[in-house]
Amino acid sequence: MPHHTPLIATIVVGLVFAFVMGALAHRLKVSPIAGYLLAGVLVGPFTPGFVADARLANELAEIGVILLMFGVGLHFSLRDLLAVRAIAVPGAVGQIAVATLLGMGLGWLLGWGPLAGFVFGLALSVASTVVLLRALQGRQMVETERGRIAVGWLIVEDLVMVLALVLLPVLARIMSGAAEGGWEAIAQPVFATLFKIAGFIALMLVVGRRFIPKALHWVVHTGSRELFRLAVLAIALGVAFGSALAFDVSFALGAFFAGMILGETPLSRRATEETLPLRDAFAVLFFVSVGMLFDPKVVIEQPLPLLGTVAIILAGKSVAAFAIVRAFGHSRETALTVAASLAQIGEFSFILASLGTDLHILPEEGRDLILAGAILSIFANPFFFSYVTSRRGAPAEAGGGPSAAPRAARHVVLIGYGRVGRRVAEALRGRGTHLIVVEDQADMARDAETDGVEVVRGNAADPQILSAAGLDRAGTVLITIPEGFEGGAIFQHARRLNPAVRVIARAHSDAEVAHLEALGVPDVVMGEREIALRMLALCAAPRPMPSQPHAA
Ligand code: AMP
Repeated sequence: MPHHTPLIATIVVGLVFAFVMGALAHRLKVSPIAGYLLAGVLVGPFTPGFVADARLANELAEIGVILLMFGVGLHFSLRDLLAVRAIAVPGAVGQIAVATLLGMGLGWLLGWGPLAGFVFGLALSVASTVVLLRALQGRQMVETERGRIAVGWLIVEDLVMVLALVLLPVLARIMSGAAEGGWEAIAQPVFATLFKIAGFIALMLVVGRRFIPKALHWVVHTGSRELFRLAVLAIALGVAFGSALAFDVSFALGAFFAGMILGETPLSRRATEETLPLRDAFAVLFFVSVGMLFDPKVVIEQPLPLLGTVAIILAGKSVAAFAIVRAFGHSRETALTVAASLAQIGEFSFILASLGTDLHILPEEGRDLILAGAILSIFANPFFFSYVTSRRGAPAEAGGGPSAAPRAARHVVLIGYGRVGRRVAEALRGRGTHLIVVEDQADMARDAETDGVEVVRGNAADPQILSAAGLDRAGTVLITIPEGFEGGAIFQHARRLNPAVRVIARAHSDAEVAHLEALGVPDVVMGEREIALRMLALCAAPRPMPSQPHAA
């Protein structure tokens, strides 16, 4: 048996600790992110016991970033991206400028030079992809207008950081007198980087757009699920890695474009489903890897500078973002969401901080403040977000759909608007039944909205979502989702909210039927049994005449 297996140890210990602490957080009703961060602190070098490999954990976290951005790209079209540029470009640039100035101010108070303050402020100005997307996804907001603004904003920040990483070494050399100052020294790497980014985007839009969907279609026609899954992963990871290697763009940007190109094909939904489990597992490792960097000593040794750092991230950045979004004429709700989603820092800040210390332009205490500021702001972000959301007074309205508050009593709550749910909805509406649909997937929920059905967007296994659909006053719940075991959990929440409600659930296997019946679901419909009965009925019926082809 091999004994030195740092990669396996890091994955296993990271996931096991994250699971235990995440479950504990769930039990205590706080964000699971807090649990994952704490798991990281426990397996990190600053606490006793096992120490995971921080470098490996960081690399694993990058896979999470790639898959997350790929997933976002799948639901984003070029049109969506261009539609938000009017606010995302000035917004991101303005917010970066404000945060950088505030960081420089704090650096000046701490007696640092202007370049140290500049790097410090820049590191505080850029939000973490993982934290932002988790916050938006958890509230089904990625595909709303404010979600798109936040994602567009993030992409602009990403591009600015790519430029900053190229420029910092040049600036460091000029400031130390090792290189000639002057515009050419700065302009040359800037143009080279812009040229590469433009080359990358052109290649993706011209070549990638033709080649990638074709390749995936070919794989679909092989009929192998395994090959399809592999193809999606190969495209997401391959494009991200290849573009970082060839064009020096970030992994996240490469993955986003790969996703965006695939999003134009009808296969995007299946591609999303294939990457979901891996994406979630690696995103969890991201938080563990951040927790590992936290040295609790900073809190004791530098309490005031740390307070200043956290204030810049939470308050300074939010106020700037809020003001900019409002100045562009967007609603208060949009401004609050965008501000809250960006009030944190993460992976890019760590990269900038370590580059800054390597180049000897950022003091070590600056890096420690950035790391501690990151973990505290990531820890605070879910609470901050919820606070803002509750001030908006609409916790369940996530998709911008019609109000979810039930108007009539004894309505039907229909869970799932897929192949089964939409047929049921059509028939019930024909009978004049008042209906509220609960649907998890944004595209399905949008279909329901287009059909004029009242929708609550979200996971029905969440009691808050069920309450938003007025379950306590519903007469009947129809659970049309294909997973019987998940249906069982929904049934239990529903009964807790409304013991008298009638429940009809869908199942696919005998085991699911047995499970649902054991829980007490009175009516379980097993799809396969109904198909068998219908086929038998058709067998018994007289055979229809074969239809004649129409003459021209
Ligand atoms: P189908 O199998 O075609 O009837 O589709 C089932 C639908 O149920 C899909 O549109 C899913 O997005 C939706 N769905 C599955 N699980 C949940 C859930 N827990 N909460 C809300 N909607 C769900």
